[in-house]
Amino acid sequence: MSRMQQVTVLGATGSIGLSTLDVIGRHAEQYQVFALSGFSRLEQLLALCVRHRPRFAAVPTAAAAAQLRAGLREHGCSTEVLEGEAGLSAIASAAEVDVVMAAIVGAAGLKPTLAAVEAGKKVLLANKEALVMSGALFMDAVRHSGAVLLPIDSEHNAIFQCLPGDYARGLEAVGVRRILLTASGGPFRQTPLAQLAEVTPEQACAHPNWSMGRKISVDSASMMNKGLELIEACWLFDAAPSKVEVVVHPQSVIHSLVDYVDGSVLAQLGNPDMRTPIANALAWPRRIDSGVAPLDLFAIARLDFEAPDEQRFPCLRIARQAAEAGDSAPAVLNAANEVAVEAFLAGRIRFPEIASMIERVLDQQPVVPVASLDAVFSADQRARQLAGEWLSRHDR
Ligand code: NAD
Ligand code: MG
Repeated sequence: MSRMQQVTVLGATGSIGLSTLDVIGRHAEQYQVFALSGFSRLEQLLALCVRHRPRFAAVPTAAAAAQLRAGLREHGCSTEVLEGEAGLSAIASAAEVDVVMAAIVGAAGLKPTLAAVEAGKKVLLANKEALVMSGALFMDAVRHSGAVLLPIDSEHNAIFQCLPGDYARGLEAVGVRRILLTASGGPFRQTPLAQLAEVTPEQACAHPNWSMGRKISVDSASMMNKGLELIEACWLFDAAPSKVEVVVHPQSVIHSLVDYVDGSVLAQLGNPDMRTPIANALAWPRRIDSGVAPLDLFAIARLDFEAPDEQRFPCLRIARQAAEAGDSAPAVLNAANEVAVEAFLAGRIRFPEIASMIERVLDQQPVVPVASLDAVFSADQRARQLAGEWLSRHDR
């Protein structure tokens, strides 16, 4: 029997973080929680610490740390509390850690995720924004450190499962013609176009198949999520953007497919529950129970497919252009999108303005090489500034 695997969960209080702890809880003889991080939901983080008894917890500020420490004392819990970015990077790279679940949402996850990669950990990547922002640097760090990078995004986990073990030789070398990335089409797939300007954040967050955090829910509604995933797939599998085709599949049962030159198309199917890709990556190359119900094909009865409608979903086109432009463009796309989604959730802009704002920011910012993390963050900051200016002009 091998020793217990020590796991750090970055973003433990989120949708992916909680699903990860659910899977870990089913295999307490194999996995031990080493550290958890939270951001604003401190009560929930406290409850998770009491339940899982991690060595460390990481929170954003000194005030949050004081509050969490007081709660931990009350519960007689000896978890040590760390603060700020340094705390996140410390729990991501500590020598005792075997596995890091990277499930912070957005650009805030980049530094700790990269710290885990640089420390050569087994990294379970949910935080797609980190890879989108810094793809070349990130994948270089994986190669140099020997980290094992496993995709959690259901589509990328599906592709990973459909590829042969030696796919790193190159997709062409292993006979792959195309990657088929499935998309549900989100809650607005059939909404009359004229009504899109009136949709509310609650409607955008009511995904037909998946229960997720608010940011990725809005991204799914605009299909920017699929755009980010296209870029994510290019980096993970060393594919040109032209080799990745988006297929709308409203049931979210096929999580993606790989099309081979001999005409074979391999797909991975399953109920839409993130515990499947989480369990797959956690135990890889073995299989463990995830708690997900078996797929009932008779109940599903049919699977539908359609081409994406780029008039309805301009974000998909904009993201593909950013993927093709490369260099700083994906980081700019991601930052502008983060600002736009936050503005939409706050009721400052209408749904279709998410795309207009991102496109305007991309048009205004020249594409430059991003050979260092500083260059990535400077592109990110500049995009946020331009997006902020767009918003203040818009508010007037
Ligand atoms: P969520 O909003 O439910 O949780 C986000 C987590 O990040 C929380 O623990 C929060 O405390 C933490 N966080 C937020 N802002 C932070 C900051 N500034 N600094 C440090 N921590 C911060 O989001 P989610 O749905 O769990 O998604 C997490 C990541 O996983 C995203 O990148 C998302 O795209 C990806 N993902 C999610 C799903 C899903 O089904 N939920 C599927 C595929 C990929
Ligand atoms: Mg996905």
